[in-house]
Amino acid sequence: MSRKKIVAGNWKMNKSFQEADTLVEMILNQVNDFDEIIKIIIPPFPYLQTINTQLTKKDNFFLGAQNCHTHSNGAFTGEISANMLSSVGCKYVLIGHSERRQYFKENNTDFILKIKEVLKNNLSPILCIGETIHERKADNHFKVITEQLVNVLTAFSADEIHRFIIAYEPVWAIGTGETATTEQAQEMHAFIRGVVSGIFDATTADNISILYGGSCNAQNAQELFKCPDVDGGLIGGASLKADDFCKIIFSF
Ligand code: PEP
Repeated sequence: MSRKKIVAGNWKMNKSFQEADTLVEMILNQVNDFDEIIKIIIPPFPYLQTINTQLTKKDNFFLGAQNCHTHSNGAFTGEISANMLSSVGCKYVLIGHSERRQYFKENNTDFILKIKEVLKNNLSPILCIGETIHERKADNHFKVITEQLVNVLTAFSADEIHRFIIAYEPVWAIGTGETATTEQAQEMHAFIRGVVSGIFDATTADNISILYGGSCNAQNAQELFKCPDVDGGLIGGASLKADDFCKIIFSF
């Protein structure tokens, strides 16, 4: 098994440039170079290049982007391509975040096209999946997660899947302060690994990192990260405070 332990901070549409600069410095000052956890900082687009310069000073810190377009270039005013992200030092791109699904009506066709661009530019996709509260209450969560995975992953080869990270983010837990229990998280992460194994093979499934996201914080990260199929976290709100984010990194 070669899967990595990862903590990624998705800042969403938060922080001024000055605040972002200070936050990164405070995080970098607390984490030593020998820490082998992969740390991914995912700031708003305008700060990517500057933050990358800061991140390259420390081992195992990488830059991620919150989105990319389905095309490489062209007349798409206001959009940003994976090619551009790669040219400013990004290594990861979030794809399929529930806020993109909900507010921007992105669907599996978009995700497949975006991931193709991501892979073409030597970046890694962090594919976000998760069920709504209605879907869980109706006991449809396994079906929903299976569909979200199968509809996207089958467009790629096992070799390509090796570059993926999956983030299980139950929509009812994102930004709500309500976290999945360790039992719910472990159950779903093991299920996701089973789906990947079914589409590809057991080795591919064993090697893919599956992150938990949804009100993961400095208090609950340790319990969540103890689950055998939870390989780290995708952190929203708690990634905006240096102390909290670092405590999460130290939770393994
Ligand atoms: C997210 O949006 O990816 C997320 C996990 O947010 P939060 O940690 O704030 O729930």
